[in-house]
Amino acid sequence: MGINIEQYKEISLLLKQQKVTLVAVSKTKPVEDILALYNLGQRDFGENYVQELVEKYKLLPKDIRWHFIGHLQSNKVKQIAPFVSLIHSVDSEKLLKEINKEAKKNNRIIDCLLQVYIAKEESKFGLNDEELEELIPEIAATNSTNLFKNISIKGLMGMASFSDDKEVVRKEFRHLKCLFDKLQTTNYKLQTISMGMSADYEIAIEEGSNMVRIGSLLFGKRETVKP
Ligand SMILES: *Cc1c(COP(=O)(O)O)cnc(C)c1O
Repeated sequence: MGINIEQYKEISLLLKQQKVTLVAVSKTKPVEDILALYNLGQRDFGENYVQELVEKYKLLPKDIRWHFIGHLQSNKVKQIAPFVSLIHSVDSEKLLKEINKEAKKNNRIIDCLLQVYIAKEESKFGLNDEELEELIPEIAATNSTNLFKNISIKGLMGMASFSDDKEVVRKEFRHLKCLFDKLQTTNYKLQTISMGMSADYEIAIEEGSNMVRIGSLLFGKRETVKP
């Protein structure tokens, strides 16, 4: 077990002081590890895979706030719609519609972040700047009309390049913060900017992040890399 309790205590205290929400990314990790952090007071956990999240949800305390941070297929939304706390990875209008539909069925409003593509790498999911601009009227509409009555778009999420060049990473985070600030000038107020992982959360916070998603630093390295 690679879980690092001392590291958790240190990081969570530091983040609390900076008013940054810590999402403990528990993908591929057993429920015992999640419970260990839960017993220290951690309530926000992030998962990437629908099936894994559903299984963990069933087994673990119901006051955990589950964050879905992986790529989400429309046909799987219904499995997490009854309980998910925040979906970080909305990257299309089609997905927004599906989440809205399933949220309605469950008689709830689901909080979402739009995932923006900020990295150089090709493999990352997310909206590019243009696609984000196109979705802005939709964002405003969630507030002012009945269009997406069961969705609340709370902000943006982004992943920086996996790069040792800290200036590249910093620039990408700065770009996301810039988009975030730009959207604030519409009539819709965003609250959450989810950026920063184990390797780059300190830079992300310096650049304005208020929610970080940290996995390996707390739970130890992951052995298997699922697609
Ligand atoms: C796995 C993952 C994380 C956590 O990564 P670590 O490097 O282990 O901190 C954060 N965000 C997303 C979207 C992830 O898939």
